Amino acid sequence: MFEVVIGLEVHVQLNTKTKLFCSCPTSFNHKQNTNTCPTCLALPGALPVLNKEVLHKSIMFGTAINARINQTSYFDRKSYFYPDSPAAYQVTQLYTPIVENGSLRIDFEEGSHKVIRINRAHIEADAGKSIHDGEISKVDLNRAGTPLLEIVSEPDMRSAEEAILYLKKLHSIVRYIDISDANMQEGSFRVDVNVSIRPKGDEKLYTRVEIKNINSFKFIQKAIEVEVLRQKEAWEDGVYDKEIVQETRLFDQIKQETRSMRGKEEAADYRYFPEPDLLKVSVSDAMLAQYMQIPELPDEKMERFIKEYGMNEYNANVVTSTVESAAFFETMMEEGISAKNALTWLTVELQGRFKGDINVTNSPVDAKTLGTLVKRIEDGTISGKAAKEVLDYLMENEADVDSAIEKLGLKQVSDTGALEAICDAIIAANQDKVAEYQGGKEKLFGFFVGQAMKESKGSANPQTLNEILKAKLG
Ligand code: ADP
Ligand code: MG
Ligand code: ZN
Repeated sequence: MFEVVIGLEVHVQLNTKTKLFCSCPTSFNHKQNTNTCPTCLALPGALPVLNKEVLHKSIMFGTAINARINQTSYFDRKSYFYPDSPAAYQVTQLYTPIVENGSLRIDFEEGSHKVIRINRAHIEADAGKSIHDGEISKVDLNRAGTPLLEIVSEPDMRSAEEAILYLKKLHSIVRYIDISDANMQEGSFRVDVNVSIRPKGDEKLYTRVEIKNINSFKFIQKAIEVEVLRQKEAWEDGVYDKEIVQETRLFDQIKQETRSMRGKEEAADYRYFPEPDLLKVSVSDAMLAQYMQIPELPDEKMERFIKEYGMNEYNANVVTSTVESAAFFETMMEEGISAKNALTWLTVELQGRFKGDINVTNSPVDAKTLGTLVKRIEDGTISGKAAKEVLDYLMENEADVDSAIEKLGLKQVSDTGALEAICDAIIAANQDKVAEYQGGKEKLFGFFVGQAMKESKGSANPQTLNEILKAKLG
């Protein structure tokens, strides 16, 4: 029996206004090589100056994962030559990172939890981008010098499922505290997966393979599964030592296999040494106290939703999984509706109508509108069934709830006078059934409700209708 061992390295691009060591903007989609200056182009004589916002966001992250914040930390140079790195080294933090020894909790669907330890999070500068265009390759240095936070887990995950839960929680945390937009497609949340296997019960770590550049949770899951299979088969076929070597592999999404990219360098290959152009980073107590202020975290919000709204853990986990859906829910609640209805109308009705790229952030029906719609059910203006029609309409048309109800003619008749008249007519026309009902055939009550509802063309408030019929039939 084998055990799977996974450790994850995540590069999070910090959403600061300017780069790590210069005042060039970090924004995307500018003309190539325009967001550059002597510092991020590594021209001789240009000196780096640390961006405080980077320090701030890194400390916020350390606080969010309950880590130790090193009030003194250092930068180091990692040397390698690549065309998109003009300095031929990357500025990073090898020996003393800003953040050490944190953890985060993952929640399994059945309600159990596990704590995953985070070894460190360090600040480093991103490289530029190589653009391969047929015979030639071009370099765009707009991204060079953009701040990254590299978050390194301990090898604590034991399955692809655990790895994905960890990544989703991490993704959620960085978005909750707003230190990164964490867009996987655009590369602001990049995951390297380290995978090994070992015989169950064995404590030592076996040879790991690093899989780089996988840009969706779905593909990460698949990449782990196929890599684990490859390692197990090599073990069973007696070729483990020969075939499983420490290296960097790529996941081929089409062939659904991992492929060797390059041998794994050892730390010594990078000739790390302390960055001589930067002072040590010193964080005063006052600065630390200020930078440690963070908004409510996913786990805290989840606990609060359980307490405040009486939700079960599963539902609380679902709504708080992204900061946007939690905010959507709370905005709905401002309409004074029940949490149970808000939850159903958000997660089943609204989200069930989302197609393609539509989600709570760009939903055609906003939180206040959906909250109002639920309120109209609760105050008896429309039935739940009619509300679904209204929602369908609102998904396609710009309108407020009340004018949509009006336009679709779905207002329930709660006016007792109108409903009494309908009931009287039904009773008068069905005297035989009235006699049977009064003689004890109670299930005929449904017949009267059905007839009256039909007569009102479905617009009668069912509760009012029931009360009137009960009274009239005795
Ligand atoms: P490097 O900096 O050379 O990539 P680290 O020791 O910092 O190496 O580890 C990188 C990541 O690999 C960490 O997330 C760690 O938990 C993970 N890791 C280390 N050894 C193993 C292993 N045998 N199996 C799976 N993951 C591992
Ligand atoms: Mg690594
Ligand atoms: Zn610059």
